[in-house]
Amino acid sequence: MTRAANSREAPARPARRCVFLDRDGIINRKRPEGDYVKAWEEFELLPGVPEALRLLARAGCRVVVVTNQRGVALGRISAQALEEIHRRMREALAQAGGRLDAVYSCPHDHGSCDCRKPGIGLFRRAEQELAGVELSTAIVIGDSVKDMEAAARLGCRAILIAEPDTAAARLEALRSRGIPVSAHAASLLEAVVEHVITHAHPVL
Ligand SMILES: [Mg+2]
Ligand SMILES: [Zn+2]
Repeated sequence: MTRAANSREAPARPARRCVFLDRDGIINRKRPEGDYVKAWEEFELLPGVPEALRLLARAGCRVVVVTNQRGVALGRISAQALEEIHRRMREALAQAGGRLDAVYSCPHDHGSCDCRKPGIGLFRRAEQELAGVELSTAIVIGDSVKDMEAAARLGCRAILIAEPDTAAARLEALRSRGIPVSAHAASLLEAVVEHVITHAHPVL
């Protein structure tokens, strides 16, 4: 076989930027420490989230939620109840003109799997299961050290969501642990407008 015959390239597939969203504190209001969203009635969408999802859909981004839900392992919520919350979340966001391509949850306890963030198992699954997800151009948006650490392991851009009064301390904590952050914003909407859709077009 000649060298030329081997150099055939795979057919080009249009890349679409994938935005990985954490759930609690990004899409919905976080419950008090130690508590979990256990039913749809406790799921409170944060301001600007429907608009942010609309903008991402319009920019042609893939949007994938990756969430740690240890409450399942602790018996605080059943896997079925979690699925039902996610079904209704997707429905509510779709009605507002947004779209979630997929929702991946880790229901496990600390140290018992490779999918609980900062593990990257769920991101790898998304890469395998969803067409057009490229980790090299993906962006991770989250509010915890675990989210930023997962992004660093993946080599993705990472955007920290933090209230203005806590942002400096959060960024310093990340810096001292050597975890890079590409940008920070006060809300998902601010992150999308300032840091995501402005960069979306070149990879569409
Ligand atoms: Mg969170
Ligand atoms: Zn897991």
